[in-house]
Amino acid sequence: MTTALVWFRNDLRLHDHEALAKAISSHDLVIPFYCFDENQFKKDQYGFHKTDAIRAQFLVESVQNLKESLQKLGSNLVVRFGNPATELQQVIKSANVSEVFAYKEITTEEKEIEQEVEKVAPTRVNYSFGTTLFHVNDLPFHFNDIPKVFTTFRKALEKQSNVRELFKTPATIKTPIDLNWGSLPKLADLGLKNQPIDERSVINFKGGEDEAIARLNHYFYHTEHLSTYKETRNGLIGADYSSKLSVWLWNGCISPRRIYWEVLNYEKRVKKNQSTYWLIFELIWRDFFKYIGLKHGSSIFQINGINGKSENWKRDKVLFDKWATATTGIPFIDANMRELNLTGFMSNRGRQNVASFFVTELGLDWRMGAAYFESKLLDYDVTSNYGNWMYIAGVGNDPRDRYFNVILQAKRYDAKGDYIRFWLPELSELTETIHHPWTKPKGLFQSESFHLERDYYLPMITPNYWDKHY
Ligand SMILES: Cc1cc2nc3c(=O)[nH]c(=O)nc-3n(C[C@H](O)[C@H](O)[C@H](O)COP(=O)(O)OP(=O)(O)OC[C@H]3O[C@@H](n4cnc5c(N)ncnc54)[C@H](O)[C@@H]3O)c2cc1C
Repeated sequence: MTTALVWFRNDLRLHDHEALAKAISSHDLVIPFYCFDENQFKKDQYGFHKTDAIRAQFLVESVQNLKESLQKLGSNLVVRFGNPATELQQVIKSANVSEVFAYKEITTEEKEIEQEVEKVAPTRVNYSFGTTLFHVNDLPFHFNDIPKVFTTFRKALEKQSNVRELFKTPATIKTPIDLNWGSLPKLADLGLKNQPIDERSVINFKGGEDEAIARLNHYFYHTEHLSTYKETRNGLIGADYSSKLSVWLWNGCISPRRIYWEVLNYEKRVKKNQSTYWLIFELIWRDFFKYIGLKHGSSIFQINGINGKSENWKRDKVLFDKWATATTGIPFIDANMRELNLTGFMSNRGRQNVASFFVTELGLDWRMGAAYFESKLLDYDVTSNYGNWMYIAGVGNDPRDRYFNVILQAKRYDAKGDYIRFWLPELSELTETIHHPWTKPKGLFQSESFHLERDYYLPMITPNYWDKHY
């Protein structure tokens, strides 16, 4: 009898799980194992929790769902909190494990943990590669030679690579019965306070593979919103302007391949158009950033990014706090940051604007903004986050200018100010000046119940190139 251990990481699902499939086919018994890594809940160099309460709660729910699904297959999940290598070593010894299976990660901290685990594993860790849509061995180039520009990368993949088939969900898993399974942590155990998601959230997000599949079915088959995705994807309010699948992709409650094959299925059964293709297009962006991370290693966390462009970035705490606490006095920025702080989610359009404002208008060190997103985002994904921030800060490798004029953007994507009213009800009574309340003549304010300085904030900056958009 041989026993394998499957170390679950950012692959909290049973569908399309290569590491699990390999362990089941090559050993008599399989022990599923998950460790809440204590380092993920510590404070970072800026004083933010690396994982704040909303994402931590989602992670606990995801692990709980995995445990329940494993129990339905006759198995179970060992749950621990602490250092993954130390905790793994104990299980390896007590259960006489002969081989460890896991998905390989891409970025620095995750690789460091792998090295520690490799030291305690009984034999070489049996890794699978599977966080991307296109497998690393199926790229038309070595990952060290990936094109600098996204379009070149995408076209090469679309022409020369195929997405692999899914691994089947196992029907049963044989697991030893007399293990110390451990229990799921409470947020207090992780050093965090509960933070319920604000009821205005686009979705009342719940973690887990079951919720991920339910969301996919809702967006695809129940509502057919996928058919109009390309037209709605720049939206700001509501559950269905975009897929929201990022929230389950980051920790692997759903695999990108599962989404891909379901899009192809939808195209056969329901409709095929530009929108259905566009969801795959966006998943290729996700791959692009993963492969940039693989190629460039820790450079994606360095101030000059991957193109080495040096700028005079500031680290001004006062400016930073206004941005982070949604008190800039610029409604489109504050509404988006308030949504982030209260729900853990922000639309792609919002992210582009608050990030561009942070780097271009405030000139702040882009890594502080990225670290704040890392702490707060429900869908934080290391390469998508740092990749997009680098791109907007101009230190990525795509030469295009990523400047966003906030006033122009606000008027284009929130023409009637509905998004502002939704998140900043204190500005509800404003109409044509809702995106720039400081331009309203003073006299008018005095005759109304609203007073800019008392009820909202004076703008922290008003660059003169905004003038022509008032
Ligand atoms: C500054 C900044 C930081 C970001 N940080 C993250 C992050 O930490 N995690 C994250 O998943 N996305 C991040 N994004 C990308 C994007 O904003 C989100 O993926 C998207 O808003 C998630 O919503 P959705 O699932 O409804 O997206 P949809 O529009 O439905 O897109 C489908 C999927 O495509 C992928 N995708 C879409 N746009 C991008 C993109 N620009 N880059 C990479 N993948 C993309 C995501 O996996 C997404 O789930 C960031 C963007 C910016 C500008």
